Amino acid sequence: MIYDAAAELAKLKRTQRTLERKAKRAKCVTAYSLTTAGNPRKILGRGNKTDLGLLGKVDTLILYASPADESGYNLCPWSTPGCVDSCLGHSSGRMVFNSSEVARIAKARWLVEFPAHFKAQLNKEVAAHARRCAKSGYRAAVRLNGSTDQCWEKLIDMELHPTVTFYDYTKAPLEKRGNNGVLPANYSLTFSYSEAPGSHAMALQYLAAGHNVAIVTRNKAQSAQLVADGFCGFPAIDGDVSDIRFDDPPGHWVALYAKGSARKDTSGFVQDIAA
Ligand code: SF4
Repeated sequence: MIYDAAAELAKLKRTQRTLERKAKRAKCVTAYSLTTAGNPRKILGRGNKTDLGLLGKVDTLILYASPADESGYNLCPWSTPGCVDSCLGHSSGRMVFNSSEVARIAKARWLVEFPAHFKAQLNKEVAAHARRCAKSGYRAAVRLNGSTDQCWEKLIDMELHPTVTFYDYTKAPLEKRGNNGVLPANYSLTFSYSEAPGSHAMALQYLAAGHNVAIVTRNKAQSAQLVADGFCGFPAIDGDVSDIRFDDPPGHWVALYAKGSARKDTSGFVQDIAA
């Protein structure tokens, strides 16, 4: 056999490039999955509103990743200019701190660039949460779209965790979620009303199918009025009392009053309920 030095050199260079690419990827996954202090980054955390559920013996963990295109990837494909401006995922409470932004971006990039690695870690955290709740006697809940709008039922097998209730808000049309609108038995979705064309019709579709629809009003008084009067033939409940959306009665509007930068919204995302 004739030794082909040029071919061997080309092969060596290809191998070197592959190794360099792998090293670069390994560096990225490490950067995303470890905190700046070098500790493993937890995907799931806690939220002030979800912690209210502890009073009702529901223990909820929540995933905050970058809303809209904060990370360079758009994790909210159905977002509107109004909701992006007002998004609690970056404008409320601790979410405004730089360290929260870094964590949100790392988690978003980790999910998009290394989905298998991310999902393996997420499944571990959900399983550990289920075990802790089984011991403590609390109901286990997980909100994966704390600040994004992803179709999680297509990304992970929720039924692998039958004792956990997953719940989220979404702006996606019903037919885009689950299997043509049919969701895993342990996943509860609340449609989020917005200024987007077609949102009103979609909201009525969700309500007619027995799901609920969250609607952000300008202030507490308007929320109270919505709860008293209902809207478009469907009754309403006060969504600010608790975040345990999966216990809401079906087919209801969920009135939430504007918080954070949403209070100044003029895009139409926040609804002004006439007196
Ligand atoms: S879709 Fe939801 S999470 Fe995404 S930017 Fe709008 S309000 Fe925020």
